[in-house]
Amino acid sequence: MTTDHRRYSYWLETVEDDLTPRPPLTGSETVDVAILGAGLTGLWTAYYLLQHDPSLRVAIVEQQIAGFGASGRNGGWLSPGFPVSLPELERRFGQTNTVDLYNAMVQAVHESLRVLESEGIDADQEQAGSIRMARGAHQLPSVERAIRTYDRLGLGEYAQPLDASELLERVRVTQAIKAMYNPVTANVNPAKMVRGLARTVERLGASIFEQTRVIDYETGDYPRLMTTHGDVRANVVVLAGEGYLSQLSKESRTVIPLYSLITLTEPLSDEQMAEIGWDKRYCIGSSRYTVDYLSRTVDNRIAVGGRGAPYHFGSRISDAFDQHGPTHQMLQRMAREWFPVLEDVQFTHSWGGPLGMPRDWMPSMGYEPANGLAWARGYTGQGVATANLSGQILADLISGRESELTHLPPVNYENRKWEPEPLRWLGIRFVQSGFTELDRRAEQTGRAPTGRSLAERLGRH
Ligand SMILES: Cc1cc2nc3c(=O)[nH]c(=O)nc-3n(C[C@H](O)[C@H](O)[C@H](O)COP(=O)(O)OP(=O)(O)OC[C@H]3O[C@@H](n4cnc5c(N)ncnc54)[C@H](O)[C@@H]3O)c2cc1C
Repeated sequence: MTTDHRRYSYWLETVEDDLTPRPPLTGSETVDVAILGAGLTGLWTAYYLLQHDPSLRVAIVEQQIAGFGASGRNGGWLSPGFPVSLPELERRFGQTNTVDLYNAMVQAVHESLRVLESEGIDADQEQAGSIRMARGAHQLPSVERAIRTYDRLGLGEYAQPLDASELLERVRVTQAIKAMYNPVTANVNPAKMVRGLARTVERLGASIFEQTRVIDYETGDYPRLMTTHGDVRANVVVLAGEGYLSQLSKESRTVIPLYSLITLTEPLSDEQMAEIGWDKRYCIGSSRYTVDYLSRTVDNRIAVGGRGAPYHFGSRISDAFDQHGPTHQMLQRMAREWFPVLEDVQFTHSWGGPLGMPRDWMPSMGYEPANGLAWARGYTGQGVATANLSGQILADLISGRESELTHLPPVNYENRKWEPEPLRWLGIRFVQSGFTELDRRAEQTGRAPTGRSLAERLGRH
């Protein structure tokens, strides 16, 4: 039976090609670099490897199709945001490393846009910036704290304060009283981006084998990816499977698959859009613990995303989990509260997918030359720009080039492992319901969370 990959997200529905899978691997192959996963991480890694050395033999092995994973389903924020907050990065790695990492993320956004342009990839990109709002007094302390932190670190241009009237000029959201504006963020159609990148790396000489699942891998003298259709032997294997890596027994405790969900309105009329006043395609969000992220499509729909869907015991992944009625309905309710004009507007699409989350929220990008093993993973839902950074770093590491990037904190960072089940399930569900309750209580009382509850301490990042 053939899978209709268009149903995995609205974005995949909009790409120009028909998503017919490329042929699978047949028998064994020998290459220089074998990459697991044709998402942004795998593709950016192939891209920069081939920029350094066009003669390199690079094979990418993908269980479904390029862009099947989070890269073809996400919220379209190409943003310098990093999953670990600036204060927490400072605490773990010091001030200089923190500022260097943030600047590298800013560059990763610019670099992604540069390549889209130079390779002729039309991903509907618009660099309008992102707006993080305080919706209500209870969210004000977190926005004000963030603005102060960016200022103190000399990064103030990425957190420009907007008062309520300045915000109204950009977008009209009920109860929004203050915001911070980051001009660097761009809004993209993620499926157009990842599919375009796949075509680009193929043109540069990489082979992409689709519908070929990696079931295990070996490192050491003879690194290889073992697949359902044969082996790919290589000098280096690269693990770029993000949330799905959890399904390999050797990686079952490095990341968990956590579901993020999105719902999408029908196209709004010009009058409805005018009422919202969302003229440029700013990415917008508020400051909830359960995370929200909104964007506007080129055909005037509003995409509303958020976390909060439950973690599944044993890190299970299933297409069925892409739908979670209570979360999708909550996102639709929220959108109507933010924009009352949506009251009678239909939501036409709902989807979701697993992102990869390590125990300490910290992405890791690394290479062990002696074992022929490289990896990049654990973006915790902030991976569109981070995957570009990973690609640049892995290509530098594998090519033996020292650069400013190869000294950044995520390089060869060793994550703390997730607990075995059932402890993992109990802990994650506890923090998830704790976050939901914190948001509910803050909205009800108008007071900000204290930061002292057990859920906040366990989920600090
Ligand atoms: C709903 C949602 C919204 C998001 N919104 C944003 C956002 O707005 N901005 C942002 O920065 N980040 C966002 N993220 C996160 C971001 O999309 C990801 O961090 C990023 O796309 C990860 O890219 P990747 O290539 O590492 O992983 P993926 O895109 O998940 O790709 C991994 C690929 O590997 C393949 N694979 C895995 N295991 C195997 C195997 N064993 N054999 C063969 N192939 C395998 C998968 O099929 C998949 O195609 C969101 C994520 C989700 C799910």
